[in-house]
Amino acid sequence: MSDKPEKFIDENGLRLDGRQVDEMRPMKMELGVISRADGSCYLEWGKNKVMAAVYGPRELHPRRMQKADSVLIRYRYNMAAFSVEDRIRPGPNRRSIEISKVSREAFEPVVLTHLYPGAVIDVFAEVLQADAGTRTAAINAASMALADAGIPMKGLVAACAVGKVDGQLVLDLNKAEDNFGDADFPMTFTQDGEVSLVQMDGNFTQEEFKQAVEMCKEGCQKILGMQQEALRNKFAGELSTDEVDVELIEEDVVEAESDDVDEGAAEPEEVDEDVEESQDDVEDHSMIKADEPEFEEDEPEDEPESEEDEPEEETA
Ligand code: ADP
Repeated sequence: MSDKPEKFIDENGLRLDGRQVDEMRPMKMELGVISRADGSCYLEWGKNKVMAAVYGPRELHPRRMQKADSVLIRYRYNMAAFSVEDRIRPGPNRRSIEISKVSREAFEPVVLTHLYPGAVIDVFAEVLQADAGTRTAAINAASMALADAGIPMKGLVAACAVGKVDGQLVLDLNKAEDNFGDADFPMTFTQDGEVSLVQMDGNFTQEEFKQAVEMCKEGCQKILGMQQEALRNKFAGELSTDEVDVELIEEDVVEAESDDVDEGAAEPEEVDEDVEESQDDVEDHSMIKADEPEFEEDEPEDEPESEEDEPEEETA
């Protein structure tokens, strides 16, 4: 580990990496990068590189772990052994277990958990390269992966941290600021402006605390904007194709209506095909329906009570 820098902020008010105190590191994200996952996101934030994958909702085994009235969200944050300079011992440790717990809780206010009783949603956040702020990077990626998986949510979740160096508050800590600074204050905000996670390492005065919350909020709003744009980029093209289909169908219908009624009825195939195609597309990208959970595993035969709930073709 490098030594503590003498100064974190220079005479021009710039940080060691050239950023302003309220400036975030560049972020980029890509959706749908893991084909076997129901939703996924690769996110880079400065030198952080994180992959998030979501599986589910699917039936939870063993059954005794199922929640009768809601879905169980499981969240696993993991730093790859090669993600830092000195190799980390693989497997869970106190830090990763704590981060997994608080990150899972950050999503509980937004995921419509009551829609999938007895099911589980697994969220895996793998840190491939770490450079401070990995828990917030992982939450931002996981939020996108959940949206990519079509999990019904009230909105997205965004996360960032504020810290204190040289007596000044700084947004989105770099490694030196994180390791040697006076405070590290990660927060998450939902799209509704609710706070769903706060952690605190170090000390703030009351005034600094209020200011830090505002800085985090602004940072999270910027991230939410980027997340929404990434989602639009992935889905808007496909949706606009649907819109074109719908327009064509409407034109066909208008033409058919203006013609003789019998003639109009004589050409239903083309319209039906278009309807079916656009319907398929819509189903591909729509939220998973609440009453049709996409369980992957077979329904055990010795438990007939659940067979009532699910259509036969899904359990085959
Ligand atoms: P966060 O990554 O969320 O800021 P921490 O404040 O605990 O979490 O860690 C800050 C940074 O310190 C990490 O991003 C990583 O670069 C580094 N770090 C954390 N744990 C270890 C570890 N066990 N070995 C080496 N570096 C680590």
